[in-house]
Amino acid sequence: GHENEVGEEYLYKIVLIGDSAVGKSNLLSRFARNEFDTNSKATIGVEFQTQVVEIDGKEVKAQIWDTAGQERFRAVTSAYYRGAVGALIVYDISRRTTFDSVKRWLDELSTHCDTTTARMLVGNKCDLENIRDVSVEEGKSLAEAEGLFFMETSALDATNVQTAFEVVIREIYINIS
Ligand code: GDP
Ligand code: MG
Repeated sequence: GHENEVGEEYLYKIVLIGDSAVGKSNLLSRFARNEFDTNSKATIGVEFQTQVVEIDGKEVKAQIWDTAGQERFRAVTSAYYRGAVGALIVYDISRRTTFDSVKRWLDELSTHCDTTTARMLVGNKCDLENIRDVSVEEGKSLAEAEGLFFMETSALDATNVQTAFEVVIREIYINIS
């Protein structure tokens, strides 16, 4: 398997990908520290955060990687993807261009990771219903077509953030145990 196993401990590398400003860093800070930053620059430079989750009575460590803004220059390196067993592909439901980019992110993911990588399509900022630009149905059908899990989230009000990460972590656990 791909896991680093130390006794009863598992360490799963999960990567966050998607266009700039879709909310990747805030999804991670919401999940790992229950924090939200309105100033996106505040989270630049974080490499990864480790979060312990219990699955079937086992302690699983999720090491979640965040870009340091390289996605702005389409310069996410292969080192970022190396060893990843899970990925959250994030778009912003209020900006269609970020949804249009999902295909490109999936291509990049399949270049660097094998097909067993657990993948979740995440439509973030679902609190912005009044300026929604991508319907729930569009998200769902893209996910179905590509064989991805799907969830809409809000890092701002915490909707589905915990669940999105946990579904991916559970899927990894099933895949490799
Ligand atoms: P990243 O570039 O993908 O890491 O995006 P950031 O996490 O830095 O977020 C970009 C901007 O979107 C920041 O101003 C955040 O405050 C804002 N943001 C992130 N998540 C949400 C969300 O769920 N809802 C709303 N309304 N704003 C969000
Ligand atoms: Mg970021």
